[in-house]
Amino acid sequence: MAQPDFFIDIDGVLCDGPNLINGGPESLSFLRSQNSRFLLVTNTTRMSASDIQYKLNDIGYKISSEEIFPVSQATVEYVNSRYSHAHCFLIGDENLDSLFRSHGHTVTRSDEPVDLVIIGHVQWAHFGEIDIARRLVEAGAEPVAMHKDPTWPDGGITRIGLGPIVAALQSAIARKITLIGKPETTFFETALARAGYPRSNTIMIGDSPQTDIAGAAGAGLRTLQVRTGNGVSSSLNGCDWILDSIADLPQWYRSNFNR
Ligand SMILES: [Mg+2]
Repeated sequence: MAQPDFFIDIDGVLCDGPNLINGGPESLSFLRSQNSRFLLVTNTTRMSASDIQYKLNDIGYKISSEEIFPVSQATVEYVNSRYSHAHCFLIGDENLDSLFRSHGHTVTRSDEPVDLVIIGHVQWAHFGEIDIARRLVEAGAEPVAMHKDPTWPDGGITRIGLGPIVAALQSAIARKITLIGKPETTFFETALARAGYPRSNTIMIGDSPQTDIAGAAGAGLRTLQVRTGNGVSSSLNGCDWILDSIADLPQWYRSNFNR
């Protein structure tokens, strides 16, 4: 068969909070040496693709920003597909403002009429923003959330993710919030289209059984789970392959793809 292509999650697979997961850079170099393509797909909303690139390269990777597809990019592409110029109430870090502005949209953090309410992750969300978001949705704004991950791993500490914030808003509005990131099938479809990978030839590598593994399997991809990050304590079923960490990728690749 052709060399497989890969979608690779970042947090919990390539790094754990600020720390490198050993063997990650060598495994990505190995994939390059085998002419296997990869795209890093992440639900991280707090950094732009170039911020993520900088962070990864600072700890030892050699990644270009084109090899990173963050959910914030998928979200702005969703907005682009429906609005030529949208006015957006944003919850999330400031990098999101410049991303949406660079695509011709306008953003606000104030209680004023908007087309969309867009929710990304901030480390400490503010109930005042959720209060404004509820009123804007009731007034007709489309509610969009970048994902609903319950938690994220931060260097040995498990912190609450965007999911509880999305749940808080959803509990106070009638309209269903549109979800963009993993595990939504649309996210994987968008990433396949962007990368130009054939679905049948693409393998998702992730640490989270629901977000990465079930999501990718639901989109028709094969799946490889690592036992790092969220994979340390989670149940490991429903994936095609399991590895202790990304460091074991070359050996697994050679034995499965006959190289
Ligand atoms: Mg992860």
